[in-house]
Amino acid sequence: MGDSLPAGIVRPMANPLTPDVLVDPVQLTRALVDVESVSRNERQIAGYVEEVLRQMPHLSVDRLGNTVMARTDLGREQRVVLAGHLDTVPLNDNFPSTVVDDLIYGCGTSDMKSGVALALHLAATLPDPGYDITYLFYEAEEIDSQFNGLRLVAEDRPDWLRADFAVLLEPTYGVVEAGCQGTLRVQVRTTGRRAHTARAWRGVNAIHAAGEVLRRLADYRARTVTIDGCTFREGLNAVRISGGVAGNVVPDECVVEVNMRFAPDRTEKQALEHVQEVFEGFDVELTDSAPGALPGLTAEPAREFLAAVGAEPAAKLGWTDVARFAALGIPALNYGPGDPLLAHAPDEHVEIGKIRDGAATLHRWLAPAEF
Ligand SMILES: [Zn+2]
Repeated sequence: MGDSLPAGIVRPMANPLTPDVLVDPVQLTRALVDVESVSRNERQIAGYVEEVLRQMPHLSVDRLGNTVMARTDLGREQRVVLAGHLDTVPLNDNFPSTVVDDLIYGCGTSDMKSGVALALHLAATLPDPGYDITYLFYEAEEIDSQFNGLRLVAEDRPDWLRADFAVLLEPTYGVVEAGCQGTLRVQVRTTGRRAHTARAWRGVNAIHAAGEVLRRLADYRARTVTIDGCTFREGLNAVRISGGVAGNVVPDECVVEVNMRFAPDRTEKQALEHVQEVFEGFDVELTDSAPGALPGLTAEPAREFLAAVGAEPAAKLGWTDVARFAALGIPALNYGPGDPLLAHAPDEHVEIGKIRDGAATLHRWLAPAEF
């Protein structure tokens, strides 16, 4: 056979993101799901995405690692970012995709290749948008933040993120989720003095001393804060407790690990000060912290976006990459067709109707006829 390759050379798969597929966000979702891209294995999918974007004369394209950036430069007054991660959590007997009635099943259907499909579909079909648009398809969101493509871009190519407003197409089931809560973890430590339990009066029991720490947690009344119409519910919770030396020793140390989720009207520093106040008199050590993000719904592109969606926003209670934009002073929100409750689940799926609705909404927002 004339086209056989020498042994050991694998013919590259043809790019499945054909023009026919790019014009249909539903087909495009399936095509993206069917390119396996578990975190740290995004090279192939990033290559396909880069290749098709480079064929579009209205976009300039660049790449950092397995993160692909494409943008229009039409001289519009405002610029918006549409961003999505290319990676998925590990496969779980859910690859490749299958379709059952109105549902596409498969790894990454909800989180978040249906969202990536919307951005890629717009990049391919909207050469003349009302705002300039920067599209970001990034790697390694699902694993430790040291690998996060958006974090690497913020460090190495911050100019790629310059914008007036950003939409992350993470799964929200078609609802606008704005801002996000911050999170921090502390270790609250009690100390005592070891002794044999047969002569316990000679020691001081550090585990008993932790009772006061737990009492303060149980008595704690968490705030509920409404910002730009979004309600954030804070929380202060013990998440781990450790202490004890042996079955016959009065323990000299106990550590209660506490996680605070805080509304974005507090900075990380203010949240830590608050936790230190709650545990006044105890040794409190910060182990981990990430800032929240204000909803930022007052920027003009954000207001236009909400009008296009036509529904009230809700607060995002988890921590997401919108906080990376907020840290750069760029208001950002989450909006995507997937159902967040199905993210990372073995029966992960997305509703075809939600993909079509999302595409229609984004077109309504970004098509120049509206301006
Ligand atoms: Zn995600």
